[in-house]
Amino acid sequence: MNIVLLGAPASGKGTQAEMLSKKFNLYHLQTGGIARELAKKDERIKEIVDSGKLVPENEMSMYVMDLLKDEKPEMKDILFEGFPRFISQYEALERFLKNKGDDIDAVISLEISKEEVVRRISSRVICSKCGEVFNLVTNPPKEKGVCDKCGGELIQRDDDKPESVEERFEYYKNNTEKLMEYLDSHKKLERVDGNRPIDVIFEDLSKFIETLK
Ligand code: AMP
Repeated sequence: MNIVLLGAPASGKGTQAEMLSKKFNLYHLQTGGIARELAKKDERIKEIVDSGKLVPENEMSMYVMDLLKDEKPEMKDILFEGFPRFISQYEALERFLKNKGDDIDAVISLEISKEEVVRRISSRVICSKCGEVFNLVTNPPKEKGVCDKCGGELIQRDDDKPESVEERFEYYKNNTEKLMEYLDSHKKLERVDGNRPIDVIFEDLSKFIETLK
């Protein structure tokens, strides 16, 4: 079973992807994480990620395919988070999986309003050491400024700063919404209300994924 989870920045797709991949034993492929790793060694990618822009679409597809060849060569049971974001990426992924005799079983979109995005992002912090994400309102750390998991310092991601948030939302709208229209017209998109509490969304998504088995 291969599933794609889409959503605007701070839609909760990372949290849901982590919970769902554990529950359904899926390999969690997160392109935001891949991009942030690459940014540590590549100044050009760092600039793209920090400013809230997107890595060129074909380049990102290449990173994903390369990673899959190494990490998940059988191409089964993958939860794609944040990828594909463009029609070209969707088609590349579909082709790639079909070559291996597999397919994309479902695309889920976590829908969220811009106001909610801004509200959530302003309270999101991330561990500078292990990458664990906290929300100061909905999921605060036990000790202020300190990661529960590894004791690392909690910081705000550069691309979560207000000047980047607006740009990321616009990019999301301009690029991914074209993909969503395409998927809607092919009746392949499951839209889920992402403005609700984490556990309620998780229950909904779990029920939906059960139907795919
Ligand atoms: P995210 O954590 O999903 O919001 O992604 C963080 C950043 O990673 C994005 O702002 C992009 O710079 C990059 N990125 C993630 N997924 C993709 C993708 N499918 N195509 C291009 N760039 C991506």
